[in-house]
Amino acid sequence: MSTSLDPDLLVDWFAAAGRDLPWRRKETTAWGVLVSEIMLQQTPVSRVEPVWLSWMADWPRPSDLAAASQGEVLRAWGRLGYPRRALRLHEAATVIAAEHGDVVPSDVDTLLALPGIGAYTARAVAAFAYGRRCPVVDTNVRRVVARAVHGAGDAGPASSNRDLADVDALLPDEEPKAARFSAALMELGQLVCTARAPRCADCPVLEDCAWQHAGRPAYDGPAKPVQKYAGTDRYVRGLLLEVLRGTVDPVAKTRLDMVWPDGGQRDRCLDSLLVDGLVEQTADGRFALPGEH
Ligand code: SF4
Repeated sequence: MSTSLDPDLLVDWFAAAGRDLPWRRKETTAWGVLVSEIMLQQTPVSRVEPVWLSWMADWPRPSDLAAASQGEVLRAWGRLGYPRRALRLHEAATVIAAEHGDVVPSDVDTLLALPGIGAYTARAVAAFAYGRRCPVVDTNVRRVVARAVHGAGDAGPASSNRDLADVDALLPDEEPKAARFSAALMELGQLVCTARAPRCADCPVLEDCAWQHAGRPAYDGPAKPVQKYAGTDRYVRGLLLEVLRGTVDPVAKTRLDMVWPDGGQRDRCLDSLLVDGLVEQTADGRFALPGEH
């Protein structure tokens, strides 16, 4: 069973119940929206908000960020995680400053050509910064569409073409309204149609929801991988970077050796940080954030 969603219901709900986040305010530039979208991938709003505010104060235009060193950028990224995002954002800022007149592009194809900008981010920036009509699909949106439109308990494995077409079919025709609808779908998944315990009594589309009409069937698709963090290589990489962010001078290997007991894993992680360009080795064999020594 499959149904459609009333855009007016969702857009009105979003106007009344959507969160007042700094990157959603009228005065926020497209650059501010792009920075927020990169930070919000895999990091919750509460941790992003203070970092985003200080980034926009320090680097209000792409050219400001492009002028900073990679080390400064990694230091300011702090504990947002997945720090390669910071270096890719720095690269994107450099291209925007040099090739796009210091203004974030507004069309999806040009955005996709920027370093580190994937299918989700390009469409999110086009929609949320420029009011374009384009499907913006993240995990939350996939879950809402799976339930409300297709009557399934949860979304199955991602498939970008099918997911984009699915959401595109729901978007109203008018541009600014389509963009608000995209933001509303995402917010609904974040606040109401949550993964574990959807708050259906508070949902603006309760009466049209296919999952309700189907009798709220349990999800019966493939199991989703559970992500753990403590003890993983990503965790150890974070510990090593934390040492380097906390000092202005390069540090000796012995200092890094103190953060994690498993020497093999520690060295593998340090190697991968060097390969990824997140850490550099000085001529005398010490370690530092890139561009800072
Ligand atoms: S009624 Fe419940 S399941 Fe359906 S879209 Fe709303 S929150 Fe999700």
